[in-house]
Amino acid sequence: MSDIALLPSVRAFLAREHGLFIHGQTVPSQGSATIPVRNPADGQTLAHIADATQADVDQAVTSARQGFASWSRSSPAARAAVLFRLADLLEAHREELAQLETLQSGKLIGISRAFEVEQAAHFLRYYAGWATKITGQTITPSLPSFAGERYSAYTLREPIGVVVGIVPWNFATMIAIWKLASALTTGCSIVIKPSEFTPLTLLRIAELASEAGLPAGALNVLTGAGHVGKALIEHPGTDKVSFTGSVPTGIAVGQAAMGAKLTRATLELGGKNAVAFLPDVATDKAVDGIIEAGFLHSGQICAAGERFYVHRSRLDPLLEALSQRLGQLKVGSPLDETTQFGPVANKPHQQKLAELFATARAEGSQIIHGGRIGDGPGCFVEPTVILAKSVNDTLLNQETFGPVATFLPYDDEDQLLHLMNASPYGLSASLWTNDLGKAMRLIPEIQAGTLWVNMHTLLDPAVPFGGIKASGIGREFGSAFIDDFTELKSVMIRY
Ligand code: ADP
Repeated sequence: MSDIALLPSVRAFLAREHGLFIHGQTVPSQGSATIPVRNPADGQTLAHIADATQADVDQAVTSARQGFASWSRSSPAARAAVLFRLADLLEAHREELAQLETLQSGKLIGISRAFEVEQAAHFLRYYAGWATKITGQTITPSLPSFAGERYSAYTLREPIGVVVGIVPWNFATMIAIWKLASALTTGCSIVIKPSEFTPLTLLRIAELASEAGLPAGALNVLTGAGHVGKALIEHPGTDKVSFTGSVPTGIAVGQAAMGAKLTRATLELGGKNAVAFLPDVATDKAVDGIIEAGFLHSGQICAAGERFYVHRSRLDPLLEALSQRLGQLKVGSPLDETTQFGPVANKPHQQKLAELFATARAEGSQIIHGGRIGDGPGCFVEPTVILAKSVNDTLLNQETFGPVATFLPYDDEDQLLHLMNASPYGLSASLWTNDLGKAMRLIPEIQAGTLWVNMHTLLDPAVPFGGIKASGIGREFGSAFIDDFTELKSVMIRY
C-alpha cells in the first residue's frame, strides 16, 4: 500500500498565507515573525504560521470581550444550535481535517479520522446539549427569623467571561474542540492558542465556526510559541485559562494566572499513569491491554499508561509475548492506511526520547525491546519495552509521553497498591483482573482522577476527566466542566 492522495482542499489550504483568526476573519499578524510547521513523517515544511505579538494579543482579547458581551446574552438554544451546526461541518470536512491533522502531527490517518474528527464531533454535540440545561438551585436559608421576616435564596450560574484555551500538540483538533465547546456552551468567549507544532486544523475550524453562525469575537485563534500563551494569561481582559499540556508548563501557567489578579485556571497535565495486572489475566489479554494503554498514538496521550506492574510469576512470558507483538507492527507513513505505527510528533520530542533511552541504559534498566530512534528526517522511535531495576529508575518516574512501557514486578497486592500510589501524579490508572470482588475492593485504594478496569485510555464526554495531585486542577466533560467555566452567584431576598 501507499499514501492516500491529499485532497485538493488540503493542498489549497497548505498553500495559503496563514494568519490569525480575530473577530470572525483571518487577519495578518501585526508582526513579521513566523514559525515553520513540519511534517514529522518526513521533516518537510508544510506551512509557516505567524508568531503572534503583544499587539495581536491585545486585539484578540478586545475582540473576545466584545464577543462575550453578545454571545453571553444569546439564548442557550441559539448557542446550542450553532455548536450542533459546527459538529455537522466537522463531519462534512472529516477527510480534509483528518489529512491536515495527520500531516501536522504524524498521527495515523485512521486515528485522525476516528478520534480527531468523528469523536470531536461527538464531544461537541454532547457539550452543546448542556447549553440548555445549565441551572442554579433554590435554597431555603437555614437561620431562624429575628422578627417574623422571611428569606429566600437561589443561585445563578453565570459565564466566567473571556477564556484563554491553551492546547498541546498530541490531540490538537480534539482538545481544541473540548476547549471551545466548554467555553461557548456556557456563554463564554474564547481565544485559543494551539501548539506551534500543530496549529493548522484549528485555523480551518475557526472558519467553519463562522460558517456555522458563530458571531465575531466568540472564538479567536492566535498562533505562536509559548510567549503568546503567557501574554494571553497575563492580559487584564482574560478571566480564565483552560490549559492542557505538560506538568512544568502547567505549573508556570497556574502561577502566571494566580499572579494576574487571580485569573481562574484549570490545568489538565500529564502524569506517570500506573497499569496493574493481577495474576489471573491471560497473557494475550494482558498484551492487548498494554498496547491499548501504552502504545495507542505512540503513547502520546496524557492518560496513557507508563508504569506497568505485573505479578512476578507472570512477567517473563508477558514480556516475551509483548515484544513479539510489537515486532510485528507495520511501521511507516501515517498517510498509508495499512501502517500500524507512525512517527512521534516532532524532532524535540524524538530527541527527548533518545535521551531517556540513554538514561535507562546508563542506569542499568533492561531494554527488552526497541530503545532506538530512527536516523532519517522523520521522527521515528521504536516501540520500546523496558524492565526497571528498581522503583528509582528514571523511566518509572519521569513521563516519557512516548511509545515506551516500563515494567516492574510485584509480589502481593499491598506492595502493588504502594507502588501504584507512590507517585506525585494521579491522572489515570487501570486495573486488569477477572475477579470483580477484588477489583471493587482495590478501586477506592488507587489514587487517580480516572480509574479504568479492564480498559485504558477511552474518554467519554459523559464521564468527568482530570487529575489529582500534580496532574492538574479541575475536570473536563460530564457536567463537571460547568463549575469551571461559570461563576456561582448567590441571591438572597428578604420579604
Ligand atoms: P507539550 O505540547 O509538549 O505538552 P507544553 O506543555 O510546553 O508542551 O505546551 C502546551 C502548550 O502550552 C503549547 O501550546 C505551548 O506553546 C504552550 N506554552 C508553552 N509555554 C507556555 C507558557 N509559559 N505560558 C503559556 N503557554 C505556554
